[in-house]
Order: sequence, then C-alpha cells, then structure tokens
Amino acid sequence: MNAVDVSILGSGPVAFSLGLALARQGLRVALPRVPPLAAAGDLRAYALNAAARTLLKSLKVWDALPADAVTPVYDMHVEGDGSDQTGGRLDFSAWQQGVEALAWIVDAAELDRALHTAARFAPHLVLDSGDVKAALTVLAEGKDSAARDALGVRFERHGYGQVAVAARLRADKPHAGVARQWFRSPDVLALLPLDRPQPQASYALVWSLPGERAQALLQADDAAFEQALAEATGGAAGRLALASARAGWPLSIARAERLCGAGWVLVGDAAHVVHPLAGQGLNLGLADVATLARVIAGREPWRRLSDEVLLRRYARERALPTQAMARLTDGLLHLFATEQPALRELRNRGMTLLNHFAPLKRLLTARALDA
Ligand SMILES: Cc1cc2nc3c(=O)[nH]c(=O)nc-3n(C[C@H](O)[C@H](O)[C@H](O)COP(=O)(O)OP(=O)(O)OC[C@H]3O[C@@H](n4cnc5c(N)ncnc54)[C@H](O)[C@@H]3O)c2cc1C
Repeated sequence: MNAVDVSILGSGPVAFSLGLALARQGLRVALPRVPPLAAAGDLRAYALNAAARTLLKSLKVWDALPADAVTPVYDMHVEGDGSDQTGGRLDFSAWQQGVEALAWIVDAAELDRALHTAARFAPHLVLDSGDVKAALTVLAEGKDSAARDALGVRFERHGYGQVAVAARLRADKPHAGVARQWFRSPDVLALLPLDRPQPQASYALVWSLPGERAQALLQADDAAFEQALAEATGGAAGRLALASARAGWPLSIARAERLCGAGWVLVGDAAHVVHPLAGQGLNLGLADVATLARVIAGREPWRRLSDEVLLRRYARERALPTQAMARLTDGLLHLFATEQPALRELRNRGMTLLNHFAPLKRLLTARALDA
C-alpha cells in the first residue's frame, strides 16, 4: 500500500488541478491512474474566468494548451425574451470594462489532456488506482461522488427538468471573439466562440431546454437541428452548421450539507453544482482548489493535514461565494423563465437600464471574473 500525505479521489479537472497544486508544495499526493485521453469525447468548452486562468498558469497547464484550444472573449451579448417589444438586452465589452478579456473559452478535452500530462511528470505525484494510505482524503469525484455518499454526507439536489445540449458548430462568418446568449423562456442558449475545428469561425453550443424538447433535438437529424438553431439565434452569428455529434447533460442544482470532517474534504462538483447558464461550475471548483491549497500551505507547522480545524478554514472561506453563485444562477433562471407579463416587462426594462449603467456592469464583470 502506498503511503502519501493527500489522496485525491476523482479524475476531473478539479482533482488534477489540486493534485498539481499540492505536489508543488512538496506534499506527496496520490491521484487515480486513468486511461490516457479518457475525456477525448467531451464536447464541452468551459468559459473560464481570470482567477481560473491565473491558477492554471501557475500550474504550468495553461501555456501547455494548444493555441486553438483557448479563445478569448472580448464581447458578450445577452438577449432576453424578444417576443415582446420590451425584449431586454445586455452588452459587455472587455475594452469598456478595462480587462484583457471577459473570459476564455477552453476546449474541455484539451484541458483534461494537459492536466493529465502535467500530472505524469510532476514530482511527488503518484498515479495509483490501488489502496493508498493518506492523512487527508480529498473528494473530487464530481456530482455523483460515491465516497461522499459512503461518508453519509447529505447532498441536497434539485433537478431542473432541463437538459443541456452541447455540440460544436461551424459558422459562415467570423466569431470575432463575441459570446452570445439568449434567454428565451424556458430555453437558455449560449454560443461560445472557439477556434476549433475552424479557426475564427466555430462555436461551442450549450442549449438548456426542457427534457422532452432536448431529447427531440438530440435525436433530430442534422438539418432539423440546424433549422431549430437558426430560429433560436435569428442568424445573429451567421449560418450555423453542426461540426460534431450532440450530447446531453441533465441539469440540477446541488450542495453538500458539509464540506469537511476529520481527514476528509469536498471540492468541485462533489461539493456544489450550479446551472451552466453562467458558465461558473468549474470556475467555482478551481477557486476551491486555490483556496484549499493556500489554507494547507499556510497551516501551522504542528498542525496535521487531517485536522478539522484546518479544513474548516477552507470550508468557511468557500461557503459564501458558492452559495452566492448558486443563488444567482438559480435566480436568473427563474427570472427568465417567468411567464408573468408584468415581471417580464420589469425584467427586460431592468436589463435595458443596466445596459446603460457602466459602473454596475463593471461590478458584475468583476464578480464573474473572480468566482
Ligand atoms: C453543459 C455544461 C457546460 C458547462 N460549462 C461550464 C463553463 O462554461 N464554465 C464552467 O466553469 N463550468 C461549466 N460547467 C460545469 C463544469 O463542467 C463542472 O463544474 C466541472 O466539470 C466540475 O469539475 P470536477 O472535477 O469537480 O467534476 P467532474 O468534471 O464531474 O469530474 C469528476 C470525474 O471523476 C470521475 N470519478 C468519480 N469517482 C472516481 C474515482 N473514485 N476514481 C477516479 N475517477 C472518479 C468521474 O467519473 C468524473 O469523470 C458546465 C457543465 C455542463 C454540464
């Protein structure tokens, strides 16, 4: 049996980022050995914020990503339900906000590949699928974490009855670094600019829809799907054609009743799940990583890694931002799903007002850049 300081369960981006961050402190860390390129089929692209980018840069992972796997977002257009005359609109611009980019769209499979490659070469990191003995066990198994359930930690989960349909698209005009999002009750559709498969003219699609409609669109032939897409986007991003298969993710909001105990701690989706409409799930998970790594690095020399007092410092710091993001995404979803005409009008007028109020927009951008 391998004896290590920290054993991390899970093979996603949060587990591997944390493994790299802790190994850099000289701790002996175990991560599961997973088959190479296991995530090659992931069609998603993550919108990552500046804090996530800073963390991945410090782990030497960001600069190892292929150039066409990372696309900066310079502008973002958000549209409310446009079926009435007050259809609201919000525009964000990196230039106006005084930031380098609003977000970076990163190919999910390439991020996994870069993390797993870095882990193979990191000193102090053991890739081991067998039994390991560790002072601290980190549960980073994603939303269906078996180890969390085995510990008896309650995971309060509410299904949205929605499925996110993801696919890669080609456009017949350049994306120009513009992300677009439509809130068309009850759908939320996002086009995230990407440079692959076609440089300057591809998008990652995330289309959240009620379950039945999502299943119909997942099974529709390519022409019918592209027609539905054209109607939903109104041609704003040009003519869009499928450039990949389609995949669906059932959506829910969830959070663990507690984040740590003696000798164990939860991070990433194993701890909290949010709707992808704001593209914040992995940003929250990477902020967990940065916080836990900092708390561990700053522990008193005599304090053990398993000490719950130490782990509670991490839990206290992460409780507020993760709850706030869950409330924000959930609130937005309900606000845009409302069928009440008065509320819809108020919402759309609010968006239009906000669109002209630069300081508040700057505040919103700053929050999104630093989950
Ligand atoms: C459609 C969609 C779009 C999204 N877009 C964005 C976005 O734009 N920006 C953003 O920040 N977030 C986004 N998210 C959220 C993001 O995908 C998650 O927050 C993120 O993947 C969580 O990472 P994780 O490592 O905690 O969990 P996961 O990605 O779920 O990884 C955990 C992995 O560990 C494996 N595993 C479980 N148990 C074990 C074990 N014992 N040993 C080995 N492996 C194990 C699981 O099978 C899983 O593959 C999106 C989500 C969806 C569904």
